[in-house]
Amino acid sequence: MYPAGFEYFAPTSVEEALSVLERYGDEAKVLAGGQSLIPLMKLRFASPRALVDLNRIEGLDGLYEDDGMLNVGALVRHKTCERSELLKSRYDVLADAAPQISDPIVRNLGTMAGSLAHADPQGDWGSALLAAGAQVQARGPGGTRTIPLDEFFVGPFTTALEPTEIVTWVQVPDPGPRAGGAYLKLERRVGDFATAAVGVHVSFTNGKAERAGIALTGVGPRNLRARAAEEALAGHELDDDAIAEAARLAAEAAEPQDDVRGSAEYKRNVVRVFTERGLRKAAERREER
Ligand SMILES: Cc1cc2nc3c(=O)[nH]c(=O)nc-3n(C[C@H](O)[C@H](O)[C@H](O)COP(=O)(O)OP(=O)(O)OC[C@H]3O[C@@H](n4cnc5c(N)ncnc54)[C@H](O)[C@@H]3O)c2cc1C
Repeated sequence: MYPAGFEYFAPTSVEEALSVLERYGDEAKVLAGGQSLIPLMKLRFASPRALVDLNRIEGLDGLYEDDGMLNVGALVRHKTCERSELLKSRYDVLADAAPQISDPIVRNLGTMAGSLAHADPQGDWGSALLAAGAQVQARGPGGTRTIPLDEFFVGPFTTALEPTEIVTWVQVPDPGPRAGGAYLKLERRVGDFATAAVGVHVSFTNGKAERAGIALTGVGPRNLRARAAEEALAGHELDDDAIAEAARLAAEAAEPQDDVRGSAEYKRNVVRVFTERGLRKAAERREER
């Protein structure tokens, strides 16, 4: 099916984009990679009156560290993350997730920020970035605000963003010199959305977990943080008992449903096993640094 008619805007600055959004309010949609929005428009699940294409705005394609933060611009593609040596060297959970998102065609165009704004509970970036403790910078008519990712995801396909706001940057705190992480995804075939997936990030001090992040994909109404599991690890070494207990708590935090990809019980068990494996991998990678 063809999308319904719409007006198309291709602003060259964030200010210009914001002024179009202000004019159209919730009848406008921002377009980044188009890998989620265009299929929805073709199915007529979305029929915005105006599309505000960000792709001609300069300066939103940066991927760099600055002042204790990794900064990822709104136009950074999944592919750029997949190839980034910076992510491979310091941000394991993100480097693991990038090549597991869909296929090369989607990765060439889709963006990290677009994926977060789309808020699909099966989105891989959501969990990888929740585990890493990320936040987004959102610009709107009143200026810029910082939204911790925890508060950003409100429900399935729903975020804390106002219709007149644009995510300009995704930011991830520096993991420190002794850190490790992993993103494990079960998919029925390569390129599929997750049956279940787990993102893990641990920053260590004196051999103990100073901060642990664990987040779950495809097993709830949004990407979920396994808080009790994170808290159980804080201040502890990642020995067998601590890992097993965190994995048990992560499985408890999952809210899976039976569907074509598997039963709820099966998905919960995948979460437990992947949390264990992810934590072991995080500890190994810490040793390698
Ligand atoms: C066949 C296929 C398979 C896929 N498989 C996976 C998968 O395995 N894992 C996975 O995680 N994802 C998967 N995806 C989704 C893909 O990762 C998308 O690229 C991503 O979800 C959206 O990013 P985008 O830049 O294409 O956003 P768009 O499609 O352009 O926009 C998506 C939504 O976000 C809004 N938006 C976009 N950018 C911004 C911004 N900067 N500020 C405010 N709002 C914004 C749009 O208005 C729209 O509502 C798949 C997609 C397809 C088509």
